[in-house]
Amino acid sequence: MIKSTHIFQPATTLFSLNIGPAQVIRGKNALAQSGEAIASLGKNPLIVGGNRSLDIIQPHLQPLLKSHNLKFTQVNYGSDCSETSLANLRQAVVNQKADLIIGIGGGKALDAAKLLAHQSYLPIITIPTSAATCAAWTALSNIYSDQGAFLYDISLARCPELLILDYGIIKTGPPRTLVAGIGDAIAKWYEASVSSGHSEQTMIISAVQQARVLRDILFQKSTVALEKLGGETWQEVVDATVLLAGLIGGIGGAQCRTVAAHAIHNGLTHLCASHDTLHGEKVAYGILVQLRLEEMLQGNQLAITARQQLLKFYNEIGLPKSLNDLGLKEITLSELYNVAEVACNPNSEIHRLPFRVIPEQLVAAMVSTTILLELEKQNLGTNLDVDTTTNSQ
Ligand SMILES: [Zn+2]
Repeated sequence: MIKSTHIFQPATTLFSLNIGPAQVIRGKNALAQSGEAIASLGKNPLIVGGNRSLDIIQPHLQPLLKSHNLKFTQVNYGSDCSETSLANLRQAVVNQKADLIIGIGGGKALDAAKLLAHQSYLPIITIPTSAATCAAWTALSNIYSDQGAFLYDISLARCPELLILDYGIIKTGPPRTLVAGIGDAIAKWYEASVSSGHSEQTMIISAVQQARVLRDILFQKSTVALEKLGGETWQEVVDATVLLAGLIGGIGGAQCRTVAAHAIHNGLTHLCASHDTLHGEKVAYGILVQLRLEEMLQGNQLAITARQQLLKFYNEIGLPKSLNDLGLKEITLSELYNVAEVACNPNSEIHRLPFRVIPEQLVAAMVSTTILLELEKQNLGTNLDVDTTTNSQ
């Protein structure tokens, strides 16, 4: 199997990059000041979100739209960004003669809204209500089954026309969503450095290095940010998970995306018992599994150091380190094997690792994410301090 044909593309191949939204408006009260920007994109918006997000945003958004003489309708996207919910949303666009989509919520709601706009050839505004993912930024949507299992992703024609990052609204989300966003964002480094760390291409080198910067910002600032929600450091961390994480995906493009951490997330979504945990929480656990694979199958010493560094960081901010932490203590061996088979399917990103992985090996890695070498156990707490300047893994 040819693992990544794009590496061998001739120099004349046409590249299309969707770097970022045409406009980002951010601030503590950003939504209230975005009326003109919204009105410039359409007169009849369809607002797409989940019930919680729509309830939170109604008192802010509705008076704003009315004051700009916009006729609007709102619709619940359902529980997942699935083909069924997309069909219902497309019907709503036709029924309401909408000329603009406004997506409100977390990753799944924004993915549904973005894909709806793409399929309906309409402009899209994203208003994230949590810092759990970079979905408000990217030109990508993930499609799930009606039961919440990950199926595939779709590249969209462009990033949103407008992203409104209102810190006041983000602050209404549970702190756990920001923790999950941190897990999803740090995965950029662990995945991009493996898939694209040896690239000679200027834009890819730039994306990989920014992924390292993003990880370092999060190592340095996350604990303080979570101690003072809404504070300045908290805002910096929100910018990192919502904006910078998205920018890295934009600059790196299709060649600089996910590897094993997201493949393991995708496998886990096929377990109903995993649906109570957030995308970034599963991805964070997936990073540890990826590092275990690098240790076990490649003998990679840097991966051991990196995993121990992450275990300490996860302890500090509350990211899951094991199947137990993900609420999957009771998982059977056959369920675990099914997850591993999904994660190792022939089209899975797990095969961007520089070695072959089979389900049996993945199962072994999934149950041993917290294992430490005896010597390192004794030194725990002295040698495992987070060092963001010297660690190269
Ligand atoms: Zn992700």
